[in-house]
Amino acid sequence: MRYMSRQVVAKCSKCDNPAIVEIRYARLRLCKQHFSEFVEKKVERILRRVGALYKD
Ligand SMILES: [Zn+2]
Repeated sequence: MRYMSRQVVAKCSKCDNPAIVEIRYARLRLCKQHFSEFVEKKVERILRRVGALYKD
């Protein structure tokens, strides 16, 4: 076990990078990289839903 007493910054929930945001409803802390992935997935899902409206 390594003690990192100087590290006050919370870590990302998915990796060891320092978290830049906390998403409370999802109980996640995300670093820059994982946050952009999270946002991209969200946007993708929304776009797909919107896209489905215009299919047909
Ligand atoms: Zn991360």
